[in-house]
Amino acid sequence: MSPLKLIDGKAAAAQVLQQVREDVRTLKADGIEPALAVILVGEDPASQVYVRNKILRAEEAGIRSLEYRLPATTGETELLVLIGKLNDDPQVHGLLLQLPLPPHIEETRALQAIAPSKDVDGFHSENVGGLSQGRDVLTPCTPSGCLYLLEQVLGDLSGKHAVVIGRSNIVGKPMAALLLKAHCSVTVVHSRSADAKALCQLADIVIAAVGRPRLIDGSWLKEGAVVIDVGINRIDDNGRSRLVGDVDFDSALPKVAAITPVPGGVGPMTIAFLMKNTVIAARQQAQRSQSEAVCLSTY
Ligand code: NAP
Repeated sequence: MSPLKLIDGKAAAAQVLQQVREDVRTLKADGIEPALAVILVGEDPASQVYVRNKILRAEEAGIRSLEYRLPATTGETELLVLIGKLNDDPQVHGLLLQLPLPPHIEETRALQAIAPSKDVDGFHSENVGGLSQGRDVLTPCTPSGCLYLLEQVLGDLSGKHAVVIGRSNIVGKPMAALLLKAHCSVTVVHSRSADAKALCQLADIVIAAVGRPRLIDGSWLKEGAVVIDVGINRIDDNGRSRLVGDVDFDSALPKVAAITPVPGGVGPMTIAFLMKNTVIAARQQAQRSQSEAVCLSTY
């Protein structure tokens, strides 16, 4: 295995978090303490781990965290009231609603209730629309992390042909929009694509966000492609449980110029970009309240 081909997501995430810590220090020197509120409804074990990690990373970065753990029986109105309260709190800059929600709560309604300026997951339709228009808005953390890794490996992405496998609202679609914004030619393939493999074979960049263990093997890839494997799949490997990506790493490695491993590739980038988004949100809110104060003082 050539270590030179491995894209080290842990090291890249550490760089992003180092910059976040510096930005937090600057904000605090200006009297702003960035704060992230995380809401978890129910007791989903995976969600509990994700929330714990997010809170931990926030604290390490110097970001104040507020944790709201609500029982699975929480009603939608009760959740919307809490979101409204946090939207109105000027001391809270980022608001994250951990998914999935219990089935009796409508996910879209809850996500749309979050103020777009505090939507650090980038799921609000105002941010989704802004991204598709190529504006600088809060963008989903996982695709933002993938773009950062690609730019580290390739520099300018202009003119590259990127194939995104998967079209979810969380990964595939925002990934395609970010790549388009970075001047790539973008093809999105999904479960109804006539020949996903043939399209993939044309790609300079492959982003796999499918959720199917090792679906994409070396035969799907062009010689010298750069591959970002977003997939996280738990498999039983001769009685041992382990994580694998959507890409068959061993057969892909000889073909690619660079590839992310699973684990240790995209995973660490997601939390790093959540922290980065919180800092961006805090800075933008501070700028907005300053310019509102200037406007008021001129009348
Ligand atoms: P998702 O919502 O289930 O979407 C999967 C997408 O893959 C869908 O668009 C689906 O097409 C497409 N698809 C399914 N089978 C296919 C096939 N045979 N060929 C081509 N496309 C196919 O999943 P997601 O939320 O985007 O997540 C994808 C993976 O990334 C999962 O393994 C997830 O755990 C992982 N993930 C990792 C991170 C991280 O931080 N590293 C973050 C988020 C997600 P249709 O639309 O036609 O159904």
